[in-house]
Amino acid sequence: MLSNHLQNGMDTAKLMWSRLPKSEVEAEADGSTADEVGRYKKNDGIAVESLDYEVIENCAYRQEQAKRGKIYRAYTVLVKWILALLIGTGTALAAVFINISVENFAGWKYSLTFNIIQKSYFAGFLVYMLINLALVLSSAWIITQFAPAAAGSGIPEIKGYLNGIDTHGILLFRTLIGKIFGSIGSVGGGLALGKEGPLVHIGACIASLLGQGGSTKYHLRSRWLQIFTSERDRRDLVTCGCAAGVAAAFRAPVGGVLFALEEVTSWWRSQLMWRVFFTSAIVAVVVRSAMGWCKSGKCGHFGDGGFIIWDISGGQEDYSFQELLPMAVIGVIGGLLGALFNQLTYYIAYWRRNYLHKRGNRVKVVEVCIVSVITSVISFGLPLFKKCTPCPDTDANSGIECPRRPGMYGNYVNFYCGEKEYNDLATIFFNTQDDAIRNLFSAKTIHEFSAQSLLTFLVMFYSLAVVTFGTAVPAGQFVPGIMIGSTYGRLVGMFVVSFYQKLNIEEGTYALLGAASFLGGSMRMTVSLCVIMVEITNNLKLLPLIMLVLLISKAVGDAFNEGLYEEQARLRGIPLLESRPKYQMRNITAKEACGNQQVVYFPRVVKVMDVLSILKGNNHNGFPVIDHTRSGETLVIGLILRSHLLVLLQSKVDFQHSPLPFSSRDGPIPIRHNLTEFVKPVSSKGLSIHDIHLTPDDLEMYIDLAPFLNPSPYVVPEDMSLTKVYNLFRQLGLRHLLVVPHASRVVGMITRKDLLIEDNEDIAGVELQTTSG
Ligand code: ATP
Ligand code: MG
Repeated sequence: MLSNHLQNGMDTAKLMWSRLPKSEVEAEADGSTADEVGRYKKNDGIAVESLDYEVIENCAYRQEQAKRGKIYRAYTVLVKWILALLIGTGTALAAVFINISVENFAGWKYSLTFNIIQKSYFAGFLVYMLINLALVLSSAWIITQFAPAAAGSGIPEIKGYLNGIDTHGILLFRTLIGKIFGSIGSVGGGLALGKEGPLVHIGACIASLLGQGGSTKYHLRSRWLQIFTSERDRRDLVTCGCAAGVAAAFRAPVGGVLFALEEVTSWWRSQLMWRVFFTSAIVAVVVRSAMGWCKSGKCGHFGDGGFIIWDISGGQEDYSFQELLPMAVIGVIGGLLGALFNQLTYYIAYWRRNYLHKRGNRVKVVEVCIVSVITSVISFGLPLFKKCTPCPDTDANSGIECPRRPGMYGNYVNFYCGEKEYNDLATIFFNTQDDAIRNLFSAKTIHEFSAQSLLTFLVMFYSLAVVTFGTAVPAGQFVPGIMIGSTYGRLVGMFVVSFYQKLNIEEGTYALLGAASFLGGSMRMTVSLCVIMVEITNNLKLLPLIMLVLLISKAVGDAFNEGLYEEQARLRGIPLLESRPKYQMRNITAKEACGNQQVVYFPRVVKVMDVLSILKGNNHNGFPVIDHTRSGETLVIGLILRSHLLVLLQSKVDFQHSPLPFSSRDGPIPIRHNLTEFVKPVSSKGLSIHDIHLTPDDLEMYIDLAPFLNPSPYVVPEDMSLTKVYNLFRQLGLRHLLVVPHASRVVGMITRKDLLIEDNEDIAGVELQTTSG
């Protein structure tokens, strides 16, 4: 019975890891070396390490805290807000830069192609295809040669980072640069992907770099900003960066805050809400100012298009009861197509990572080029087979231009058609994605697109989006998702219009609901998506409908698989801890989850030779430290990190000849080492056990670990259920948790009243109150 239980326990404990693909692939993708992988694989097959978000309250930390006065605290708060300001400004400027570049490249491309196809279709196609290819090639080159971690959207990795997983290279300066320029190439080159996911990553990179005071490697560092040493502070900044990314991508500041809260963070504090909100507000202001400046034509083709254009004036004001059914159907279609999208992209990405991309960078580049050519052929070729549609009767003051002039945005792309005609398929296919979305959302009561064109576009674009996802270029899924969703939404809208002829129904409204439903069905976000959709369309009246379709599509999608980012995180070997523990964990205790583990620990005073051999003998990053009382009782006095041990071994400063611990009666412990190095967890990536060179004399020395260890690690009793352990671990963002037998003595009892301490109150003077008092 017990052994069954134990087996169950171990199975569940490994549950979260068991579905992960093997580590070589992950390492290949994230750029870590084979040696690194080997080290981790020997242990448990997981090629990732966690981040230390826990505050290590060792001597160094306490000394530093004691030194800090009110001025320092005020300065810290000030710097936090300055950093939020800089993150917001930086991300907004990056978004504006990307948009200006994309719009200009796309504007030139379309103007040139339009001009050439007046003379020769073939020459026009060739130019169009070559420009696309050149842009996409530049993006693929940047990713493969310069910044491999900038491929994809980056959201799964950032989600992992905020969940406590360290993915190699995701927050580097070169990744930031690669992401910015790579996105310009991939989006400008007309691939079926967007720049919104990358902007989240860009925001996170900017935040992380600012948090560490700049980039050391590129000598761009400011001492004034370098006050945030812990991973915890950096995590908060990265959260601000993610919100800034979404706020900049959609010009949706509240949506950005909610996106950070709902989708990317694992830990949220109310103080953080303020700062994230402030960052998003800054983004909104900077983007709007930049737009205002660009309006006067200073930014080339930018100003007419880009990220601002989705606020559709007009739009369906009201809806009738009969419409709820077709809207629910849109929710169901969104759930089904979204789940299918996640599954297909998972399989293709898995195949790519395991087989195709293992053949090297050249294959990755060739693959992207093939996808680019196919995209060009489809987007140029298909509209050629489409009959032209006569322009609708528009009055001269409406501002609607049909057909539109080359290089200008509008609903009616002329392509090869005559004077007063437009090509509906070219209007969505042969266009920048932002303009295409604007066209699909367009709220007019006329049929601008034929059902056949919408269906063709849906099938083709869906296939292209699936194939493009996972190629070696920066790629976001928001915009393709909106395009796919709005196409079938509009199709349903057309059907509803012809069915309920008396109602005042606009296809554009259904397109919007379709977009929401597909994103809900694929990404499984609800609140943030809802707010983003409202913010980008400026139509608050549709809020209840968007909520309805999102709820339905999420529920339907959840019945089939996980959300897109969770699936991709799993594929990349990022072991996310979900917010809820698995049900089976209720029947397993902490001890059972540890299995027959032999704990590797250190005594308080340890021989250097032993430290070296223990560190070489395993890959663990945290070790309990044990001491004995005078009566011979064993005591766990703390937890020491591998990274701190490596620093101690390398510097040799704290080696001592005596195997005896320093007694507190002899005065304060003499620490020769610069303690500031121990306030935060040192990155174990920086230093490896192979970098340590010790002489035979050194090996015979001892180290007293007491000043360097974390004296207050979190501890749970052995029979605590794994559910409780999970919640504790997840909610506190822990990396190590010690499991101990029942405690033998109690020295106190903490209740709410002991934690209600006034500001400036002397903690030693707090009078403990009893419940009756
Ligand atoms: P992380 O990988 O999350 O950064 P870590 O590297 O310290 O933390 P691992 O060594 O990767 O932890 O953990 C792998 C397995 O080894 C886990 O099942 C864990 O329970 C076990 N383990 C970790 N530390 C020790 C230790 N000091 N002694 C014995 N087993 C350990
Ligand atoms: Mg590990």
